[in-house]
Amino acid sequence: MKIRQQINGVLAVSVLAIAASLGVTLDRANDLRQEMAEISAAENLITSTTHLRLIAVERVLYHEQRSPYQWDRKIKSIQAVLDHMPTSSPVEKSSVAFIRKNILLAQAVFPRLNDTQAADPDNSEMTASLRARTVTSIFVITQEIMDKAEELIRFNREDADAALRAMRYAIWFMGLSLSGVILFGWVTVSRGLLRPMRRVEEGAQRIAKGDYDFRLNINSTNEVGALADAFDEMTARVQNTKNELVVEVNNSKRAELALKQSVQYTQTILDNALDAILTLDEKGIIKSANFAVQSIFGYQSDAMLGQHFSHFLTESSFGEAGNVNAETNKNILLLTGKGREVEGQHREGRSFPIEMAITQSTHDGQLLYIVLARDISERRRVEQMKSEFVSTVSHELRTPLTSVSGSLSLMLGGKLGDLPAVMRPLFDIAHKNSIRLSHLINDLLDMEKLTAGKMLIELTPQPLMPLVDQAVESIRAFGEPLNVTFIVKERLDTVDVKVDGSRLLQVLTNLLSNAAKFSPNGGQVFIAACAIGQMVRVSITDHGQGVPEKFHSQIFQKFAQADSSTTRQKGGTGLGLAITREFVERMNGNVGFTSKEGKGACFFFELPIDVESNPDFRNGE
Ligand code: ADP
Repeated sequence: MKIRQQINGVLAVSVLAIAASLGVTLDRANDLRQEMAEISAAENLITSTTHLRLIAVERVLYHEQRSPYQWDRKIKSIQAVLDHMPTSSPVEKSSVAFIRKNILLAQAVFPRLNDTQAADPDNSEMTASLRARTVTSIFVITQEIMDKAEELIRFNREDADAALRAMRYAIWFMGLSLSGVILFGWVTVSRGLLRPMRRVEEGAQRIAKGDYDFRLNINSTNEVGALADAFDEMTARVQNTKNELVVEVNNSKRAELALKQSVQYTQTILDNALDAILTLDEKGIIKSANFAVQSIFGYQSDAMLGQHFSHFLTESSFGEAGNVNAETNKNILLLTGKGREVEGQHREGRSFPIEMAITQSTHDGQLLYIVLARDISERRRVEQMKSEFVSTVSHELRTPLTSVSGSLSLMLGGKLGDLPAVMRPLFDIAHKNSIRLSHLINDLLDMEKLTAGKMLIELTPQPLMPLVDQAVESIRAFGEPLNVTFIVKERLDTVDVKVDGSRLLQVLTNLLSNAAKFSPNGGQVFIAACAIGQMVRVSITDHGQGVPEKFHSQIFQKFAQADSSTTRQKGGTGLGLAITREFVERMNGNVGFTSKEGKGACFFFELPIDVESNPDFRNGE
């Protein structure tokens, strides 16, 4: 129940109780006043009756002349008292009636005192006894009146006592009611208000100290109960929020730690990397550099920060378009890409070869270059040693091998007389192997010359198709034992290309021999020449096993073979396609292939048409 309702209830009960007590008290007070008035009247009556006696005695003993007059006055005052005497009960009424009757009687007797004096003054003896009897009668009558009056006094005093008692009880009751009301009010306020408020205060203090498990748990339906429920709900929400906050804080701490560890991890990798790793801003100014820059460029990483990256490369690294002193991103853009070989500028003043990769990225919306630089001085030294070794060995081998191969060829040709039949197969094998060996050495030497930049390639305009026909003719003998035939399907007889004839023959021979080697027995190899814009494409298509998908990316690398057993089964070094690409690129063309495993392969090269000799192709028609 609401506190206001409780207080209203208590007030209503207390007002009723006090009103009832007051009513009773007033009632009894009225009774008391009446009783007191009756007592007073009765006492007056007794006094007046005593006066009557005195008047009668004075009349008899002293012959008082004024006595009749005084008697009448007293009688009248007694009657007036009787007239105004309040009578509340039948007993009182009959008492008053009795007194009136005796007054009348006394009234009737008193004149005899006057009569006896006046009637016979000589007969004094008789008169005296009459008077005595009369006075006695008056005394008896007045005694009766006085007894009745005293009886009335007694009655009224008892009634007054009862009224007084009732009043006292009513006042006690009123006091009790008031005490009850005060007590009840106190209990209500204490239980309904003060105690819960103390608990609320305690709760507030506990929560202030961080004890969110505390609940008021006040089971009350009044306003304080509602306040306590709201307080508990609020505390529960605060606790939930705190728990969620704790979880969130823990998560973010964990994430922060993980991030820190990840940053440390990345930094450790960067610090321990052997390659120099730098970041440049959009202009090419160095923003960060790892420890490796010191061992590569000779500068501490901090010393390189804020400088343009161009200053750490030689002028030749940028080619003709670059300018080592220009602090712009133009220099950086010239070098952007992977696997570039440039020259670094060491702190000690020497230059050294670098393999470099520059990639573009963005960070916080800002353009950023990431530079990876590797000192390849050692690799270059080893390569140099290797190429020198290979060329020395190859030259040393080629001369004796040429004479061996020539001698064997002479013997097999019967120029030195007939060979015994049993020896012929052995000579045949020896001859074939000597040819294979000289191919290998030639390939090695070509490759070596190419990589060392010593290969001389002279480009002269000449018709394409005679070179193609010549290559096809020379390879037919190679295809015969394999039952492979070569068919030129499309021709471009009018087209001239600017090439080194013997190198192009080498390219064609290599592609045709590969097509024959990887064709099935009895297979056909198609050769086609067609124009694509200002380029001519020559394609060689076989129907063999094709190139495995995973080998596509490596096929033009040196010594790369899809199946290493190929060398033994079909011959070959894995150098043919690498040399082919180098030659074609040196002749300003490109090579490529398409193949599906099991469905053959189509290798092609494209060369620019010599528009000087073929003006028709000037506009790429
Ligand atoms: P090789 O002397 O071994 O033929 P190449 O460089 O000419 O060396 O060829 C490299 C490898 O490419 C071969 O070993 C073979 O695996 C693959 N290849 C070349 N041409 C063909 C082709 N026409 N069909 C299938 N595979 C080929």
